[in-house]
This record gives sequence, structure tokens and C-alpha cells, in this order.
Amino acid sequence: MQDASPDYSLRLRHAGIKVTRIRLAILDLITQRGRHMTADEITAALRSRGVAADRVTVYRNIDRMVQEGLMVAACTPGKAMRVGVCAQPSAGHHHHIVCERCGRVAETQGCPIQDAGETFVRRVQEASGFRLTGHITHYIGLCQECRRGERA
Ligand SMILES: [Zn+2]
Ligand SMILES: [Zn+2]
Ligand SMILES: [Zn+2]
Repeated sequence: MQDASPDYSLRLRHAGIKVTRIRLAILDLITQRGRHMTADEITAALRSRGVAADRVTVYRNIDRMVQEGLMVAACTPGKAMRVGVCAQPSAGHHHHIVCERCGRVAETQGCPIQDAGETFVRRVQEASGFRLTGHITHYIGLCQECRRGERA
């Protein structure tokens, strides 16, 4: 979690997408909450802040920001898809860890699939008959706060 909101206008411009009120509102909201939220939770929270938002618009904007690496989408077993904000969108390819209990998100460095190298890719391709073009990966776990709660 961060203390101050980063300059999201700048991030949107760096990503080459338009700076709009709803995009800034979504990024600010999630930064303040410090955890992943579902599109429905985001829609409801924006409305309660007086931002005119419908589910479809929220989905569309989230989708675009996930594509551009500003936001992170994560599924945890048995729960709806949640999105968070990437704290280091310019850090290159990397993955995130999501708390399965509270939805808090943290950055991790590097990529185990890239580290696994050519042999791994070849093996996957040969076994599936597919040509590998990418992967969607995130780790799930229990954050420090939730682990403290568990011991108490
Ligand atoms: Zn990130
Ligand atoms: Zn947690
Ligand atoms: Zn990766």
C-alpha cells in the first residue's frame, strides 16, 4: 500500500490512453482501499462518491487499463474477478500476489515462466499443439495482516 496517490494522469498519458474522470476515479478509489475490488464494488463505490458510473462503463474502463498494464486483474478460487492497481506499471513484465482473504495486492519481481526458458515453452507447445503467445499469472496467498489475524 502507498501513502500518497501517484500521479495517475501522468500514468494514463504514458500508457497512451485518454485521461478521463472515471479512469482517475477508479484508480484513486482502489489506491485508497489498498486492495482488489470487483467491478460491482467499484461501480457502487463510485456512485456513492457522486461519480455517474454504470457497470458497463466501469468494466470497459477497467478492461482497457488492465490491457495497458495500469491495473491488475486477479481471480481467486470461488470469488469474482477483482482488479487492483499496479504500483510499478513501467517495471516491465512482472506478476502480482493477491491475498485470498482480503484482496490486498503486492508486486513481485520477474517472471518464473520467462525464467523457465525456451525448453519449457517448447514442451508446452509440443504437448498442446498450441503456439504460446502469453500467459496470465498471479500468485495467491495470505497477507501479513491476515496471517496475524490467524495466529491471534
Ligand atoms: Zn505491478
Ligand atoms: Zn489479507
Ligand atoms: Zn510472466
